[in-house]
Order: sequence, then structure tokens, then C-alpha cells
Amino acid sequence: GGKLYVVGTPIGNLGDLSDRVRQVLASCDRVAAEDTRHTRKLLSHLDLSVPSISYHEHNRYSRLSELIEGLRGGERIALVSDAGMPGLSDPGEELIREAVEEGIPVIPIPGPNAALSAVVASGLSPQPFVFIGFLPRHGKERIGELKKWAPTPATLVFYEAPHRIQPMLKDVKEVLGDRRVAVARELTKRHEEWLRGTVSDCLTWFQQEKPRGEMTVVVEGASEEGAKEKTKPWWEALTVTEHVD
Ligand code: SAM
Repeated sequence: GGKLYVVGTPIGNLGDLSDRVRQVLASCDRVAAEDTRHTRKLLSHLDLSVPSISYHEHNRYSRLSELIEGLRGGERIALVSDAGMPGLSDPGEELIREAVEEGIPVIPIPGPNAALSAVVASGLSPQPFVFIGFLPRHGKERIGELKKWAPTPATLVFYEAPHRIQPMLKDVKEVLGDRRVAVARELTKRHEEWLRGTVSDCLTWFQQEKPRGEMTVVVEGASEEGAKEKTKPWWEALTVTEHVD
């Protein structure tokens, strides 16, 4: 019968492609891709010529029935996004839910993910953490969403675009307070860079260094008072580390 594979793809480093990803993509009848041009490059890197069909933000409802029909007819379909795990701040949720409801096997093929990579190396408590993804773009809604999470005693993980990182961090400081934060930039890429400090420290840094690249922001949860003592050097000054392979 049909199967839906939810396949993780690199977030910047092609070396993170596993053998299993290649095997699964090679065995599929079709790849449902966020951007077929982007995915075709990945497939040709893997020397594969599996047909791809677009499944993105704007056609996800219209494509749903076609893909489900294929799965019901016995097709093996791989769902991929441009980077990382599908469904996490990326298309996939509706197709996956529908397949589950139809009793079609849904099989994850784990791959890179920016949130999990950032949380485990942040130095902040990895448990519990809440993955929030992108906040609303505009002031009032963003503040409202942050207020919702302010009392949560869990590490908070956000995605943000470089041109919105400063207004976002200002709102974080205002609503959540001047907590410890780790900003992971360009994860897995040659110039991966980490900023660890308070929200104020990071804001000062971005006044001098123009924010560029892809960023994941990990913010300390509410009422972690004891943690400040345990990591004093970090708490006292911004640290910036760059990883170059
Ligand atoms: N589904 C993807 C995943 O599993 O990580 C996330 C897709 S989301 C559209 C893209 C956002 O993820 C970026 O704007 C950035 O906030 C974050 N991101 C993706 N790649 C990253 C990287 N290499 N380093 C840091 N953050 C990254």
C-alpha cells in the first residue's frame, strides 16, 4: 500500500544528508516539495530523477486530495521542504494529518532541524522546551503572543528573519524581561555563529553588526533564577563563538 515519508533535508550542510534519505527518496514514486526547483537540485546532487510535485503554503489545500488519492492508490510519496523537517514552520501539517486520518502509514525520516540543534547547544535547559517558530510580524500581535508565553517555565525557541531580529528582541526584552538568550546563526554552515548573553547584550551586538543569515533564538524560560549562578561567565558578558570547519 501507499506510504507517506516525511523526510528531513539539510539546513545548510549537504553533509547532513543520510544514506537513508537517499534510499527512501530513490524508492519513492513522487516527491511532494515546497519548491520543486530547490528540491530538483537536491535530487540531482543525489543522482536521482524522481518526479516532483509542488506542495507549498499557497496550494496545500488544492494539492491535498491529489496526493491523498495517490497514496490511496498505493503510491510511495516523500514530503520534503526546502530545509529541515517538513511541517515545522514549513508546509506538511495538513497532508500528514489527512494521511493519518486515512490510515495511511506516515513514516518520519529524521534529518536536520534548526530548533532542536539550537536548543541542545544553547546552554539553556533543553527540558522542557516549547517550539514556537515565527512570531507574528507586527507589534501588537507579537506582543500579545509573547505575553501568552511569559509565565511558561520552559525554554522558548523561535525562528526569526534577520531584518526582524532587532524589533523581535526588543519585544522579548519588554515582555519576557532581560533573560538569557542564545542566538544561533547559520547552523551547520561554514560560518555558524553563536551569541550567548542577555537579550540586551544581543541587541547591543546587532547595533554594531548588521544581522545577516538564518537565525534561531533560544530564550530562557520563566523562573529559572538558580540557573544564573551556574553559568556566571555567560551571564556576565556576551560571548560570540564562530565555528569554521
Ligand atoms: N523546517 C525547518 C527546520 O526543520 O528547521 C525550518 C523552516 S523555517 C521556514 C526557516 C527558519 O528556520 C529560518 O528563518 C530560521 O529562523 C530557521 N533556520 C533554518 N535554517 C537555519 C540555520 N541553518 N541556522 C539557524 N536557523 C535556521
